[in-house]
Amino acid sequence: MNDNNRHPDAKSAIDAANRLNPELNAFLSVYDEVAPKGEGPLKGMPIAVKDNICTKGRRTTCGSRILGDFEPQYDATAVERLENAGAVIIGKTNMDEFAMGSSNENSAFGPVKNPWDVERVPGGSSGGSAAAVASGIVRAALGSETGGSVRQPASFCGVFGLKPTYGRISRYGLVAFASSLDQIGVFGRSAEDIAAVLTTIAGRDENDATSADVEVPDYVFALGKPIEGKRIGVPRALFGEGLDSDVQSSVETALDGLKSKGAEIVDIELPYSKYAIAVYYIIATAEASSNLARYDGVRYGFRAEDAHELREMYFKTRKEGFGPEVKRRIMLGTYVLSSGYYDAYYAKAQKVRTLLKKDFSTAFQDCDVIATPTSPTTAFRLGEKSDDPLAMYLSDIYTASANLAGIPGLSVPCGTTDDGLPVGLQLLGPNWSEDLLLNIASVYEKAFPVEGEPGIKA
Ligand code: GLN
Repeated sequence: MNDNNRHPDAKSAIDAANRLNPELNAFLSVYDEVAPKGEGPLKGMPIAVKDNICTKGRRTTCGSRILGDFEPQYDATAVERLENAGAVIIGKTNMDEFAMGSSNENSAFGPVKNPWDVERVPGGSSGGSAAAVASGIVRAALGSETGGSVRQPASFCGVFGLKPTYGRISRYGLVAFASSLDQIGVFGRSAEDIAAVLTTIAGRDENDATSADVEVPDYVFALGKPIEGKRIGVPRALFGEGLDSDVQSSVETALDGLKSKGAEIVDIELPYSKYAIAVYYIIATAEASSNLARYDGVRYGFRAEDAHELREMYFKTRKEGFGPEVKRRIMLGTYVLSSGYYDAYYAKAQKVRTLLKKDFSTAFQDCDVIATPTSPTTAFRLGEKSDDPLAMYLSDIYTASANLAGIPGLSVPCGTTDDGLPVGLQLLGPNWSEDLLLNIASVYEKAFPVEGEPGIKA
C-alpha cells in the first residue's frame, strides 16, 4: 500500500463507490455532483463523510431507522470547511447506529464488509468510512470517535485513523452520542492525507463552545521530520491477557522499526487504564441516554403511525425506531444516572476519569508519545461477537482511555498477520500533539510500507 499521494478525481471515486457498494455496503448515499463548491488546497479531492455528520438538505441517518429520512437544515462545520477548500463530498458512509458499536453490525441498513475479507467486519462504528478508504474509493474520509470508532476500524481495515484532541475540530453538526467524548476524526491512506484534511477542518468555531482557540499548524509541513531522540513510552503491563499473539508480534516489530529510526523506547505505566472500559461504558451511556431523549417522533425523522395519544406515540416511535444496542445503552445510561445509583456509578466513574487523565500526564513526563496496539485482535468474523456485548466492548480496551482523557490518538498500519489481516499500532500524545503523531507515522510509513492489499479495491 505504498501508493503515491495523488487522489482519484471525484467522478472516478463516485463510479467506484457505486460499483463496490453492493459488495461492501460502505455507503448509505452516493452523490452525483462532481464539481467542487469552493476553491482551495483540497480542490477536487473526493472525500466520504460518516452519516452522523450533518449535510444540509442531504439525508443524514446516523445508521438508524429513527433518522432514516432526516435531512438536516445546515452543514456541519467540518463539511462546510472541506467544501470551501474545494473538496467534493461524494457520499455518506454506513455506521453502527448512533455510533454505538465496534463492528458496524448495529447499522439499521445492514453491516459493512471488510474489503480485506468480506466475511469479516470492518470494525466500528465508522466502518463505512474505513472501508471506503481501504478499498481506495477515496483517499480520506471523516468519521467520529467517542471511544475508538475511528482508530479501531482504521486498524481492522489497514488505513490511518486519527482521533484529534477534544476541541480540535468543531462538533457543530456532529450528531451527539456522548458530548464530553465525541470528536470528529479523519481516515487516510497515508499520514499526509490526514494532515491535509485536518489542517483544513481544525480550529475554533463560534458554533461550538467546546472547540478550542488553539492555533492550527500546517500539519502537512510537520511531516517527514527526523524522529531521532523521540521517547516512545510502552505500557508493557497492558500487553497481557486478551491480546492476540500475532497482533503483539506485529506491534513489537513496529516498535523495533521506530527504534531503528532513532526513537528511544521507554517503559511506562498507566495503572488506571484497566478501568477505562468500565468508566467509558458508564459515562458514554449516561450522556447517550440524555442526548437521545430528543428522538421522540415530534421533531426529527421517523414517527410510529398507529399511535393514538402522545405517550403512546413516544413509546412506539422509540420502540420501532431504535435498534437493540441503542436501547441497551439508553437503559444502562438511565440506570447509572438514576437516584440511588448515581453516586455509585456515574459520580464514581467521573472520579476515575480524572485519575485516568492524571495517568497520562504523569506518563508524558517520561515520554513524548505512547505506543500500544490499537485493538487486541484483527478483524473478526461477522456474527462472531454480536451476541456477546461484553466481548464486543473489549475491542475498545486500548482506545477508550484517550477519549476519556481528551488526548489525541492515531492508528498506523503496521503489517499484516499470517492470515493476511491488517494490524494497527496506536500512538497517543499529549493534547495538541497531532503534528508529532502524524510526523512519526509519516516516517514509519515511508520506512516500512505495509505489504499486501485488500481483495476488494477500486
Ligand atoms: N465501540 C465503542 C462503543 O460502542 C466506541 C464507539 C465510538 O467511538 N463511537 O461505544
